[in-house]
Amino acid sequence: MAAPIATVSDSRTTQSLNLIAAHSHIRGLGVTPDTLTPKPTADGLVGQQKARKAASVILQMVKEGKIAGRAVLISGPPSTGKTAIAIGMSKGLGEDVPFTMLASSEIFSLEMSKTEALEQAFRKSIGVRIREESEVIEGEVVEIQIDRSVTGSNKSGKLTLKTTDMETLYDMGTRMIDSMTKEKVMAGDVISIDKASGRITKLGRSYTRSRDYDAMGPDTKFVQCPDGELQVRRETVHTVSLHEIDVINSRTQGFLALFSGDTGEIRSEVREQINTKVAEWREEGKAEIVPGVLFIDEVHMLDIECFSFINRALEDELAPIVIMASNRGSTTIRGTNYKSPHGLPLDFLDRVVIISTQTYSEDEIREILSIRAQEEEIDISPNALALLTKFGAETGLRYASNIITTSHLLAQKRRAKEVDEQDVRRSYMLFYDPNRSAKFVAEFEKRFIG
Ligand code: ATP
Repeated sequence: MAAPIATVSDSRTTQSLNLIAAHSHIRGLGVTPDTLTPKPTADGLVGQQKARKAASVILQMVKEGKIAGRAVLISGPPSTGKTAIAIGMSKGLGEDVPFTMLASSEIFSLEMSKTEALEQAFRKSIGVRIREESEVIEGEVVEIQIDRSVTGSNKSGKLTLKTTDMETLYDMGTRMIDSMTKEKVMAGDVISIDKASGRITKLGRSYTRSRDYDAMGPDTKFVQCPDGELQVRRETVHTVSLHEIDVINSRTQGFLALFSGDTGEIRSEVREQINTKVAEWREEGKAEIVPGVLFIDEVHMLDIECFSFINRALEDELAPIVIMASNRGSTTIRGTNYKSPHGLPLDFLDRVVIISTQTYSEDEIREILSIRAQEEEIDISPNALALLTKFGAETGLRYASNIITTSHLLAQKRRAKEVDEQDVRRSYMLFYDPNRSAKFVAEFEKRFIG
C-alpha cells in the first residue's frame, strides 16, 4: 500500500525567489495600480515603459487566475532589463504565489536528466494552498464580548478571536449566545456566562480592541459542538509547492533534501500519487491550486527535447505561467540544424506572447546607474557618473554597474568619501568588459590553450 501523504505544515514556504544582488533595487513594475500605466521611474525601474505595461497586464491576469499554462517571451538585446522586468513581476505576485528562476544552463547536469530538471522547475512553480484546522482551544468561555470581533476568556488564559469574515463570526456568536441565554445580545455588549447555571450577566458595552486581537490570526472561529461545548478552532492555511510535497513524500529523498537542495530524480509514481491526493484535497475543499511563475533565462540554451517537454507540460491541468528571456535574434535551435527567431521551434513560438525590450538612452543609463549606486550606498561625483554612463552606453549596463563597486573600493583605498572620475577610469583599466576581452583574446590567440 502506498505510504500516506505527509502533511506539510513544517516545510518551507514556496516563495523560492532567489534574490539576485544585481536586481536588489527592483521593488515592482512601477505602474499605477488601476490603469497599469508605467511611471517613467518607479519601484527601481527606469524607462522600458512599453515592456513594463505589457508585463503588468500579464501580471494582472496571473493574479486574477486568468492565465496559467501560457508562455511569454521577453526578448531584447543584452542588459536591457529582461530579467529586471521578470523580477519586477515577481514582486507584484501574491505572497504565496511561487516564482521560480531557472538559468537554462542549470538543467544540463550529471545528477539528473534535463527533462527531470525541467519537471522539478515546473512543479516548484505550482503552489498548493492547504487548509488545516490545526489548533483546537477548548475551554469554558466565561466572558464573551461581541463587537466586530468576539472576545472570550477561558480559565487558562484570555482568548481574543477574529475572523476575516466578521459578519459570519458576529452572526455565529450572536446566535450561539442567543440560544444559550435567550437574551438578545447586541454588538458591543460584554457579557459573562456562567456555563453551569447558564446565567448571564451583562457587564456593559465596549468597543475597545484588545491587544491580543490581531495576535490570534485571521482564521480563528467559534464552533459549537453537538454536545453544546464551545470550541475555539484556528484554521491555518499554508502554501507549499508540488515539488516540495513530492520531495517530502519521496521515500528515497526525505524532506531534509529540501534544505540541501540535493533532491535527485523523483520517481513518476510518487508524482502520480501526489497528483491524485491533491485532486482529492481539492474536491474536499481542503486545498486549492496556486499557479505561479517559472522564469527561464537564456532560453535559447535549451534544446529541441526541452522545448517539446515544455510544450507538453503547458497543456497539463497543473501548469504555471512560463516567462522566458532571450537576447538572441535568429539562431540555431539546439539539437537541430534549423535556425529560428530566438532559437525557439516555430510551433512553440506560435503559442508564445512576446514582449520586447529596447536599448536605453544615455539619460536612462545614467538614472539606472545612479539608482544602483544608491542601492549600494555609494556616493558618486557627477563627473564619475557621467563617465560611468559613457561606459554603460558603450559596453553595456551590466559592466558599468559592476565597476561602481570596484570604483568604490578604489576610492576607499585613497580615503575618499566619494567615487570620483579617477576611480572609474582606473576600474576601467583594471577590469575588462566583454568586448575588450574578446579583442585581447583575438590578438593573443596563440598564447592561450586552444
Ligand atoms: P541579458 O540578455 O544579458 O541576460 P537582461 O536584459 O536580462 O540581460 P538585466 O540583467 O535585467 O538585463 O539588466 C542588467 C542590469 O541592469 C541589472 O542589474 C538590472 O537590474 C539593471 N537594469 C536593467 N534594466 C533596468 C531598468 N529598466 N531599470 C532599472 N534597472 C535596470
